[in-house]
Amino acid sequence: MNATPFPFNFHGHTQFCDGQLSPEDHAQAAIRLGFTHLGLSSHCPVPFASTWNMPPERLGEYLRLAREAQARHAPELDLWVGLEVDFVDGQDMEALYAPVLDYRVGGVHFLKTFPQDGEHWDLDRSPAHFERGLRAIFGHDIRALATYYFEQVMHMVEATGCQIVAHLDLIKKFNRGNRYFREDEPWYQALVEACLQRMAAGDKLLEVNTRGLYSQLCDDFFPSRWVIRRAVELGVPLTVNSDAHHPSELAKAYPQAHQALREAGCPQVFHLNRQGWKSLPLG
Ligand SMILES: [Zn+2]
Ligand SMILES: [Zn+2]
Repeated sequence: MNATPFPFNFHGHTQFCDGQLSPEDHAQAAIRLGFTHLGLSSHCPVPFASTWNMPPERLGEYLRLAREAQARHAPELDLWVGLEVDFVDGQDMEALYAPVLDYRVGGVHFLKTFPQDGEHWDLDRSPAHFERGLRAIFGHDIRALATYYFEQVMHMVEATGCQIVAHLDLIKKFNRGNRYFREDEPWYQALVEACLQRMAAGDKLLEVNTRGLYSQLCDDFFPSRWVIRRAVELGVPLTVNSDAHHPSELAKAYPQAHQALREAGCPQVFHLNRQGWKSLPLG
């Protein structure tokens, strides 16, 4: 018996990155929710300092524990072993990780480096860190930053083999109250439209990521409802994920996502299965 509108989640983080608890804990929570599918996607190791990516020396243990949980719970739960793979200024790390994974979530978090010390800037760490990068790297030009961000997302959509595109409009994470820009400005909408056109022509799932909403940082999903509506119009295949950082978050804000997708006229959502994508009609 499913306790949630969507019995799956392909975007979640464990204790091996900035998430909490083990692959086994996440698998057990998924089974309690009535999930049929669960993807583990801890943040991949990156070749520079990061406060939230998996340390390279922990990758082996992550894979071992994830594969053990996968074997232990099959066939009740179809567990997929993956990573959220960073796309960093055109640098695709997929080739490194794809051979040992079942799937990859692609995400853009890092943009350029600080001129003073060469530190890679992650745009979603905190409001203060966002402000620092916007000033030091982009001269406080939010339009230049957003343009570069969406260019990276488009490049990732076109050039990498990830199956799911994470949080398409992460750039708005700290934009509550239109602090930096308005989403109805034509230049911003043109950037989003270009991304959606790439998605429509591509072969990846676009996630409706509920984390912004339930973490109460944002007033909407990633991406926003108007973007979801446009994605539906363009026939972009959608999936739903919670970007869980704890097993208790696996189905957070799923009822709201279900309602939003119905309001957007979305006929179905997709998830990965071993034969390809599987559709779930929206009732
Ligand atoms: Zn992410
Ligand atoms: Zn994530």
